[in-house]
Amino acid sequence: MIVTPKFRGFICTTSHPVGCEYNVRQQVEYVKNQKKINGAKKVLVIGASTGYGLSSRIAAAFGCGAATIGLFFEKPASGNRTASAGWYNSAAFEKIAKEEGLYAKSINGDAFSNEIKQQTIELIKKDLGKVDMVIYSLASPRRTHPDTGEVFNSVLKPIGSAFTSKTVDFHTGKVENITIEPANDDEIRQTIAVMGGEDWSMWMDALKKADVLENNVITLAYSYVGPEVTHAVYREGTIGKAKDDLEATAYQITDKLKDIGGKAYVSINKAVVTQASAAIPVISLYVSLLFKVMKNKNVHEGCIEQMYRMFEDRLYSGDLKLDSKGRICMDDWEMDDDIQVEVSKLWNEANSDNIADISDVEGYRAEFFKLFGFGFDAIDYSADVDINVMIDSIN
Ligand code: NAD
Repeated sequence: MIVTPKFRGFICTTSHPVGCEYNVRQQVEYVKNQKKINGAKKVLVIGASTGYGLSSRIAAAFGCGAATIGLFFEKPASGNRTASAGWYNSAAFEKIAKEEGLYAKSINGDAFSNEIKQQTIELIKKDLGKVDMVIYSLASPRRTHPDTGEVFNSVLKPIGSAFTSKTVDFHTGKVENITIEPANDDEIRQTIAVMGGEDWSMWMDALKKADVLENNVITLAYSYVGPEVTHAVYREGTIGKAKDDLEATAYQITDKLKDIGGKAYVSINKAVVTQASAAIPVISLYVSLLFKVMKNKNVHEGCIEQMYRMFEDRLYSGDLKLDSKGRICMDDWEMDDDIQVEVSKLWNEANSDNIADISDVEGYRAEFFKLFGFGFDAIDYSADVDINVMIDSIN
């Protein structure tokens, strides 16, 4: 089949199997070209198929030589429908890991469920015995509570009052104002239930109870802070409340892991283009301006550069460089005053006429399509490709 991008807004309903493999190979190459890290050896990544989770898995496997179990919720191809990008990415990851002699197995299913937690525990017991790192990198619009069956939906809304801000349509480059109405209390509660720390905590409880955690295990989850212009919709909005909860959960998990010397950390990562972040209004304009400034100053990073740096310069450097709230700050370059002063100046100037010049909206759009395997010069998109790609350990 010849696969072309079919998109609307921040959703792309097709993905290119060869392009996705190319994307994963590029990330692997990046890590292989850096120095090896004496770090984790047996790693569970929850949310391992795209974005930060995929890059964490690649950094662990190809940076530290770790065996990895990756868990995700993706769709295989069916009839004329391509698989989701995360499916193709994971198939590629396993293929490349095998080429390099690294253990890699995957589980496709709902990480919020008790069944998938049990299935994962059984796989760890059977193949690895125990894990020394657990990365929790889920981004989901909904969660079914495993015990009560309640379905929670997360929303991206301000709290208290409506928020009006500039944003950009990254497909057209049109800059316009949007107004987002504030969330009610139930929407805040549901967003915390989806993106807060409860499920991370349930995972760590289940893994500990099953005795599949090594002494001194490290577990990580990811968060974001960002600049003032995004606070109403992000850090002080519904998702920010969920992140507050996630960050507080790290302390509770560390407490519960005390007897085995385990530690839970939250890493504040940089704003990048992923399927999850593309869905957040206003962030697209900020990220387009940020990319321009960071690229100009030669400090631009994508997911893989961030995750390799987190492993190499923080987790296994002997100095986590935690902030006053005990968080790992991978957003240090993004939040540098030099960068933020410039971004904020451009933010005030941005309009539909100058956006192509003063921002990297073009780079944003390119990154978006690359998430689905499109837009790589090295790939012949007119070629017929087999969309039925198997993931070795699943099929
Ligand atoms: P993403 O959309 O690229 O990845 C989400 C992952 O979660 C995928 O592997 C997906 O399969 C998996 N997933 C979703 N629902 C699932 C379910 N029910 N069961 C199993 N797997 C499921 O997202 P991302 O942007 O990489 O986000 C990962 C984390 O990083 C989030 O906590 C996010 O807030 C955080 N973060 C993102 C950014 C950013 O700019 N993208 C910045 C800082 C922090």
